[in-house]
Amino acid sequence: MVPKELEWVWNARWASYEAGDKELYQFSEKDFDKKAKKLAQAGVNAVITSGFHFRWSFVHEWPKLSEMLRKIVKSCHKYNIKVVEHHSAVLTHNPAGENEWSQIKKWEINLKHKEFYKGLEDGDISYEGVWLSQMRQIDPRTGQFSHTVYKGWALCPNNPLYQKLYFQYLAQVYKCGVDGIMTDDVQFRPSGYGCGCPYCRKLFTQKTGYKMPPNGLCDKSFYGNMDNPSYRAWLIWRKESTRDHHRRVTNHFRRLGLELCRPFYSSADTTAWAIQGLAGEVENASKLWTTIFTEVLGLLPNYYTWPYAGSEAKHRNALCYREKVPAMCLFYPKDEKENLLCWALTKSWGQCYWGGISEKKQEALGEVFNFEKEHPELYEKPETISEIGILFSSQTRTTYKGMKEEYYVEEWRGWVQTLMRANIQFDVIIDQDLEQKRYFDRFKLLILPNAAHLSKKQISSLYSFVEKGGNLILTYETGMYDETGRKHEKYPLEKLKKYGKGKVLTIPGKPGVKTSFYLESIVDDKRLIKTNYKPDKNSMKLIIDSVKKLYNKPLLETENIHEGILVNIFKHKKELVIHLANVAGTSDYKGKIIKPAKHLNFPSVYSLSGKSSMTLKIRKIMRKAKLFSPEIKEEIDLNCYQKNSCTIVEIPDKYLNCYSAILLEK
Ligand SMILES: [Zn+2]
Repeated sequence: MVPKELEWVWNARWASYEAGDKELYQFSEKDFDKKAKKLAQAGVNAVITSGFHFRWSFVHEWPKLSEMLRKIVKSCHKYNIKVVEHHSAVLTHNPAGENEWSQIKKWEINLKHKEFYKGLEDGDISYEGVWLSQMRQIDPRTGQFSHTVYKGWALCPNNPLYQKLYFQYLAQVYKCGVDGIMTDDVQFRPSGYGCGCPYCRKLFTQKTGYKMPPNGLCDKSFYGNMDNPSYRAWLIWRKESTRDHHRRVTNHFRRLGLELCRPFYSSADTTAWAIQGLAGEVENASKLWTTIFTEVLGLLPNYYTWPYAGSEAKHRNALCYREKVPAMCLFYPKDEKENLLCWALTKSWGQCYWGGISEKKQEALGEVFNFEKEHPELYEKPETISEIGILFSSQTRTTYKGMKEEYYVEEWRGWVQTLMRANIQFDVIIDQDLEQKRYFDRFKLLILPNAAHLSKKQISSLYSFVEKGGNLILTYETGMYDETGRKHEKYPLEKLKKYGKGKVLTIPGKPGVKTSFYLESIVDDKRLIKTNYKPDKNSMKLIIDSVKKLYNKPLLETENIHEGILVNIFKHKKELVIHLANVAGTSDYKGKIIKPAKHLNFPSVYSLSGKSSMTLKIRKIMRKAKLFSPEIKEEIDLNCYQKNSCTIVEIPDKYLNCYSAILLEK
């Protein structure tokens, strides 16, 4: 639930507030005011600060940074903009080797900050009598500091010295009057091994009774060995341990009498590499967040990678529906056109938008944010009405087989992406939802793509769903193991087929793996990607045919709608809103090197279909249909009529370029 003080987060229109050397050394109060005014004019009403991200590398400047933050907050509040402070809670800069040193030296910020640079040369920084090296994460294979991909080391959130100093610092940040806090990068490194510090070892043994192998040993009977129950317990303990850090943050500010907004995110919360690897899970701490979002990484060309971002976004929706908080999506568009598309995708997923466009181009946010501000009826608190649930099994992702995504995640992702492409309305649900039979009154079909690890409670939920007439699709090894990864002696779903009124379809293979979008490689840092991705047509057909067979009276049907026009429906009080987003031309690009600037266009809908209008059929009775778009000045009345308890809406092709929304009234 969103606390009363933070209700504003439901209608937040987010942007980044870049705070660097210019703001720190040169800005006058007038400059801060000017910057805030510009953001307000672009329709922004909430910002997340960025700058001096590896905060521990700048300990000597913390008082000065707080002074700047106070000015940012004061100026933003003048224009009714909320401010969330954001930094890395654990990462530090420590270049290793010639190559990393030369990169750091090129980065001019370091040269201006003498103490920071001295800290790099000395190899350590002391703060309040504590060396940073006393708080670092340890690579258990070597007993040395854990090196990160960010050219540095990381501090350990389980270290009591760290906890004391970090919470002292957070209290200083809160005194600047911020509305929220984001403490990033709370993960264990190196991937799959960290942390081997004495505090982590002790905690792990206390909580589970198991022991980690001693430092200086890469024990293969432990690391990566899913047959070893102590390794599986360690994977689960690590993610509980990062959650405990976040819980301490909330408890701490509440003890200070504060209620702060806590946006939280992951770019890849569903993946094994993120959770088995680094253990910083969003899902298991979802109760703590005020808004939960996906960061769509800046190096991915947004246009082509929407299926990947979309499947992650669907998972965040699952967490947000459960916790009754708004979902959000952060994109890094590079110009106005990309911004429009990124916003359109976000809105069609029922989420708030954080336009992470560079400061120079922030004006572009005005086009979409001011439109959004004028049409609260299209965007405020969307409610889902879908009748299909797809289980994302965090249990399976965490302790099933190993870190290769095709074991589990790609199978799940393939089902999600194929249904998104086909405009079949559905929701992702999580393990606890299934356990608690949540949404069972709404769902007609449940899909479990290789949900191998199921608890007794989840299995009994499935029996009661089928007993009452719900239909079920299971693939591959669904239900073969318990929630901790121990194999069931007897297959517990054996009797399900002949159990109740509902139909059960079992698919022995993993069709999702063959349809799931992946990137082969990122060619360089200019956001070019090479991909051999080509969804297997037969597997796609198998997925869609299976769903249509068990769900034959869909909530929403489309006619004359070309592939690549995405259609999503939400309920807003008594009205329904349908979002149309145009991503046509992104489905077939085997082996191509993709240059996003060249490819970003919105092919006219007419040229795609050769027909002059699109038709939507909705299984609800509605009387009126109006179309709105930031690309069209006036609102358009659409032809709309009722037939066999359904509403039919016709949309002339000329009314869809990149994005349009349709409001259906009773
Ligand atoms: Zn540790």
